[in-house]
Amino acid sequence: MTRGAVALGGNRGPVAQTFCHALDILRQRGVSLVAQAGLYDTTPVGAPDDGQRYLNSACLVETRLSPRELLDELQRVEQELGRVRGVDWGPRPLDLDLIWYGEVVCETPRLTLPHPACWYRRFVLEPLGEICADWRHPDKGLTVVELRDRWRCRPVTIALAGGTAAWRERLLREPSAFASAVRLVDWEHRDRGAGEEPGLIAWRGTPGGRAETTRPRAESADPGFRQLPADRRLDVSREAADSDAWLTFLAQSVGDEPRRVGTLELED
Ligand code: ATP
Ligand code: CA
Ligand code: CA
Repeated sequence: MTRGAVALGGNRGPVAQTFCHALDILRQRGVSLVAQAGLYDTTPVGAPDDGQRYLNSACLVETRLSPRELLDELQRVEQELGRVRGVDWGPRPLDLDLIWYGEVVCETPRLTLPHPACWYRRFVLEPLGEICADWRHPDKGLTVVELRDRWRCRPVTIALAGGTAAWRERLLREPSAFASAVRLVDWEHRDRGAGEEPGLIAWRGTPGGRAETTRPRAESADPGFRQLPADRRLDVSREAADSDAWLTFLAQSVGDEPRRVGTLELED
C-alpha cells in the first residue's frame, strides 16, 4: 500500500456533500481514507466575475493503485459527479488533485508529482497542514508546515525576476487588487527593497532566450532560473505575454486567507 494526499475543491452545488460522495466512491474502488482535513472557504481563483466561493479540503489515502491509476480514478469520480472539462479554473462541482504519492517525483503530460502548485497555494497548504504537517516537498526541501507558515504574514512578498526591466517596472507600478495582502518587489534590485525575504520569486525568463514549450509544467533549465533559491523559485516564463492573469492567480493563491468553516460528515 502507498500513501498519498488528495486535495479537494469545488464551487458548484452542494460542495461538502459532493466531497463526501466522492470519498465514498473512492473507498469502494480500492482507495482507503487514512485522514481527513476540515473544510475551508476560499476565494475563487481566476473567476472574478463568477464570484461563487470555493470550498477546499484534503485527505490522506492509502491504495495499491499506481499513481496513474489513482489519477484516472480521481478524474472518473470528477466526471461522475458532474465535472465538465474545458474551462480552465472555471466553476466546477469537484476538482480532485493528487498532491503527492509516496516518494514519487514525475513530470509527464498527464501527471506531475508532487502537484506543481501545492507549495504556494494556501487553499492546499492549510488543509494539508492538518493531515500531513511533516511531509517534506522533495524539490523545495521544506515541510508542509514550513511552506504554509510562509504565507501567514501580512503583506506577503512576491519578487519579480527575469523578463525585462520594463516588464518588472510596469507590474510594480500598476495598482493591484491584493495590495494589502501582497507586496511586489523587483528581485533584480533587491538591494533597494526593505530587505524582507520574498516568499516566492516569479521568474519571467531570459529576454530573447529560447522559449521552452514542450514540457508545460517543468521548471526551466535556464541558468537564470537555476541560480534562484530553489525553495521559492517559480517558473512563469511560459505564461501568456499579453495577460497578467497568472499574477492575479498567484497573488490570490498566496494572499487569500482560507477560512476553516467545518468538517466533513463522513460515514464509517
Ligand atoms: P491545477 O492543476 O493548476 O490545480 P486544475 O485542477 O484546474 O489546475 P484540471 O483541468 O483539473 O486543472 O487538470 C488539468 C490536467 O492536469 C489534468 O488533465 C491532469 O492530467 C493534469 N495533472 C498533472 N498532474 C496532476 C496532479 N498531480 N493531479 C491532478 N491532475 C494533474
Ligand atoms: Ca486544481
Ligand atoms: Ca485538477
